[in-house]
Amino acid sequence: MKIIDAHSHIDYITHNLQPDVVGTICCTTNEAEWTVLQNQISGDKNLYGAFGVHPWFVTDINGDFEKRLECILESNDSFMVGEIGLDKHKPDMDKQIELFQKQLDVAIKLKRAVFLHCVGAWDKILHILKQYKKSELPIIVAHAFNGSDEILKKLIENYNVLFSFGKIDKPQEINRIQQIPTDKILVESDAKPDVILLDTINKISNIKNKSDISDIIYNNTSKVLNNG
Ligand SMILES: [Zn+2]
Repeated sequence: MKIIDAHSHIDYITHNLQPDVVGTICCTTNEAEWTVLQNQISGDKNLYGAFGVHPWFVTDINGDFEKRLECILESNDSFMVGEIGLDKHKPDMDKQIELFQKQLDVAIKLKRAVFLHCVGAWDKILHILKQYKKSELPIIVAHAFNGSDEILKKLIENYNVLFSFGKIDKPQEINRIQQIPTDKILVESDAKPDVILLDTINKISNIKNKSDISDIIYNNTSKVLNNG
């Protein structure tokens, strides 16, 4: 079995630590992490990077930050954009929206996949996505999705959004997995050592009643890494 962790952070590179995990997509949360991750990737061909500023760190932004983001993405065709998004529990929603849009614009311009963090702000994300042509939007990986079934349906039907799952123990998570087509499911640790990706795969396999789910999820992740 081959598993790629679709969302982790630099302090937890899963493919060195968990059975069957052959690669890790690492998301940065602030600009200080960009160079650290860039260096780590240059010494590890199974490590993939998403560069961006998380909505929890909007106040860290200064100057020509989009230029610097473009510059780091242009240094490597495989670099993606993340972790970006909106979080209603954190301050300064206007600034969060501005920052999210700027980073989404960079992802569109350079045709890179996006790793999305959204807590309690799916209406705002949908409002923003509507302002773009569907054909220009990149692949979006929504991690730890916690929106309503209605939002989930809209995302599945209208956008190229995939969903990454960690520990699956709540009934609503099982319910969501039932609703999401298998070609839109990924697995993630989100840098939590208690999330064993092999267990997550086995749970999804049971929920979907598909024995080959690990191959499907591996292919879904490869598709994200190839942006298409
Ligand atoms: Zn994360």
